[in-house]
Amino acid sequence: MLIIMGISSLALVLASASFIYDDWTTSKRAMALELRTLAEMIGVSSTATLTFDYPEAATETLSALAAKREIAAACIYSAKDQPFATYVRGGRQSDFSPPPVEVDGSRFTGDRLILFRRVFLDGQTVGTVYLESDLEDLKQHLKRSIWTVAIVLVVASIMVFLISLRLQRIISEPITNLARTARTVSAKKNYSLRANKRANDEIGLLIDGFNQMLSEIETRDEQLRKHRENLESEVIAQTAELRAANSELETAKSKAEEGSKAKSEFLANMSHEIRTPMNGIIGMTELALDTELTDEQRDYLDLVRTSADSLLSIINDILDFSKIEAGKFDLDDAEFDLNAVVGETMKALALRAHQKGLELISFMPDEQPRRLRGDPGRLRQVLVNLVGNAIKFTSSGEIVVEADTHTEAEGRVAIEFTVKDTGIGIPESRLASIFDPFVQVDGSSTRKYGGTGLGLAISKQLVALMKGRLWAESVPGTGSAFHFTAWFGQADDLEEQREPKDPASLVGMRVLIVDDNATNRFFLEKVLSNWGMKPASAESGQSALDLISKRTRLEPFELILLDANMPEMDGFTLAQKLHELPAPIHPMLIMLSSVQALGDVERSRQCGIAAYLTKPILPSELFTRICGSLAMEEKPNGTFFSLPAASETKGLGVLLAEDSAVNQKFVTSLLEKRGHRVTVAENGKDALRALADHEFDLVLMDLQMPEMDGFEATAEIRERERETGRHVPIIALTAHALSGDREKCIQAGMDSYISKPVKATDLLTALQGIAESKDLTFNGDDRDEEEESVGAASVDRLELLARVGGDLDLLRAMVQTFEREGPAMISQLDEALIVGDSKTIERCARKLSSSMANFGAGGAIEIVRQLEALGREDKITEAGESLAALRTEIETLFGALNACLDQDDISIPDPQRALILNDRQIKDEPV
Ligand code: ADP
Repeated sequence: MLIIMGISSLALVLASASFIYDDWTTSKRAMALELRTLAEMIGVSSTATLTFDYPEAATETLSALAAKREIAAACIYSAKDQPFATYVRGGRQSDFSPPPVEVDGSRFTGDRLILFRRVFLDGQTVGTVYLESDLEDLKQHLKRSIWTVAIVLVVASIMVFLISLRLQRIISEPITNLARTARTVSAKKNYSLRANKRANDEIGLLIDGFNQMLSEIETRDEQLRKHRENLESEVIAQTAELRAANSELETAKSKAEEGSKAKSEFLANMSHEIRTPMNGIIGMTELALDTELTDEQRDYLDLVRTSADSLLSIINDILDFSKIEAGKFDLDDAEFDLNAVVGETMKALALRAHQKGLELISFMPDEQPRRLRGDPGRLRQVLVNLVGNAIKFTSSGEIVVEADTHTEAEGRVAIEFTVKDTGIGIPESRLASIFDPFVQVDGSSTRKYGGTGLGLAISKQLVALMKGRLWAESVPGTGSAFHFTAWFGQADDLEEQREPKDPASLVGMRVLIVDDNATNRFFLEKVLSNWGMKPASAESGQSALDLISKRTRLEPFELILLDANMPEMDGFTLAQKLHELPAPIHPMLIMLSSVQALGDVERSRQCGIAAYLTKPILPSELFTRICGSLAMEEKPNGTFFSLPAASETKGLGVLLAEDSAVNQKFVTSLLEKRGHRVTVAENGKDALRALADHEFDLVLMDLQMPEMDGFEATAEIRERERETGRHVPIIALTAHALSGDREKCIQAGMDSYISKPVKATDLLTALQGIAESKDLTFNGDDRDEEEESVGAASVDRLELLARVGGDLDLLRAMVQTFEREGPAMISQLDEALIVGDSKTIERCARKLSSSMANFGAGGAIEIVRQLEALGREDKITEAGESLAALRTEIETLFGALNACLDQDDISIPDPQRALILNDRQIKDEPV
């Protein structure tokens, strides 16, 4: 409305203004025209008076102007422009003085309109008329016009207002309605509302558009609602599904945990069950080989022994692998000497390498930190795997083992180990996959090299446990290099432990290295130069002789390192020749040999060799030997040999806490035969009593015993010792082989740990350790004195004899004990079955199984274990059936044992065996 009013008012005002203006100018023009006409009329009437110079007539003419009220003054001029006659409104002639004549025309001045008009007669100017009019009429006219216009304006505005009021209803009402509807929709969120349409004009179209928009929103809203409802139900359904899945997962998880537990228990049992007969086979074969045999028998037994060794190492691999898989593998954290660990490993493998004619060399840079913290056993295992593979896959050349510091950070050090060989190599495509379990480059059944394909997989996992990485590089046909890194802690006393540098006695010493292997020469030169010595090298006996003969007079060699096994001229021959040389100074000779053959030491003595070292050479060992030899040189006829002095035998006082009669018999006899004194305690309490009454050098403690078990007894012993300040070594005897057991034993205060069934060698080695620590030298292996004869009977028999260290009397005594204990146990079991005492069933069955394990009685043990489980689970009825079966099995076992005892045997020692066993034992650690 405002717009309409504004626009129309503006238009009206403009129109009115232009109208007034036009009217004003028109009126002015009309007034001037009228004045001119009047002047002309006056001129015409005055012509005669002017001509005849009759002013009165002219004045009279002018007086007629009184009728014209607007004429304020008038004048007629003569031809000479002199006022002729004048007129003034109101007659006051004095108020008027005629203006000077101007040219014809009119003009407005102030509030007057003035006009001059010449009067002509016959073309001659006879005078001029002057008229002066006021503008009163004009102003009146203007006023009227303005009033009229104002009235028109008001009326028009009123009409415009009324019309716009009407129009507004047509235009703005639908828009207002639309706005109201939009507001309601947005306030109530009700999209079903619609705006009313009145006409099909633009507003109608707008309303249509708006309504359509609303209906679209409504449809979408509806869809959304439905979707949301669906979604909700879907969410509910999915939540339910998830819950179900979760509970399934929970069940699966607990099943998996149970499975994993069962797996580790199974592992423990398997390691026990498999190793026992394996140890039987190996030990028995060992014993049999120590007897007098025909060549054929010896060959057969050698074969049995090699096969058993490799079978045991395969079993160990599989067990290790399963343990790592089951996450049951813990790393030790012990302080160790890196050089010693690498050195010992090399020594253990040297025999195998040298038997194949391979050089085995280890490089340990001088700056190497030597005292480290970590798991030396596992490090050794990885090295044994890699070096073992290198030996296996190399037919000629050398194997070099290097260890170098890789990174050092925050008191920890990463060592990079490299094992390089000159063997068959590995194709590029297989370099990654050989680290997977059971993968071999040649996996065919006709392959040349045996193996399980587990070694590298285990090594990789072990290295990963040591926070390192294992990888390989290889050129097929040329050789392979296996690298691995491993992190270790640095032991505090690092500086003190470093290899001695610049030892004064060695600085400047001229040394000749005689070795046909270039890597060995290079290694020795590096080591010797590091000590300040002056090394020179010769690749054969002859070139060494040439070199020596050239240099004797000037700068003679003071020390010669000789390789024993060289082509053409071996070390001994060279030493002999050197001995015979007429040199002013005889250099000191040190022999380096791959294999220490029988008689070598004696031969060395004869050739004047100062020391004899077995390869691979460890720098520390070489250093000690050189220094030692130099010291011995000063003593007359002194020699420095690595062979240990003969030992003396003294017995130990041993307390055996063990409830199984057979085990009691076995251990007692085994130890007593070797000069030890054994006291038996039936359980932990008995053991404590015995310890209170007597002093013992050692306690062998079974873990599972009635009344008081091994853990409890040990804790009590250690508690008592706090007062006395003594410490009796306690060795646990356990059938358990889980990784935690070892820690449990150590925590409980035990010093060591032997897996059951106890192997004669393990027990004797442990005793020897204790004897040495007590300064009692004990000869654990006096088999030479054993007169019992052991022969090649059945494998079972061999196994049995191995268990008892070949002692037939002991075996007989054990069988007799079992013949007493077995039936007693069976009758106890019978009684327990009648009264339904499941606890006694479990206990007796366990005791029986422990005894029977000594005889490798597989079938019977299985039944007895079943019985033990049934007792534990309180399944008396089923136990009845098992007991019946057990009775039959035990009868058969007695028969078999007696048959075994009725055979005759003989024994002979085999020194080579010890070397092979060394190697095997590296892998054969307790689980
Ligand atoms: P195994 O030696 O028992 O077969 P490993 O896991 O130790 O199992 O090795 C897997 C495979 O990797 C071997 O079978 C062999 O094919 C290859 N291999 C390992 N070391 C070497 C090596 N030094 N030279 C050549 N091949 C090797």
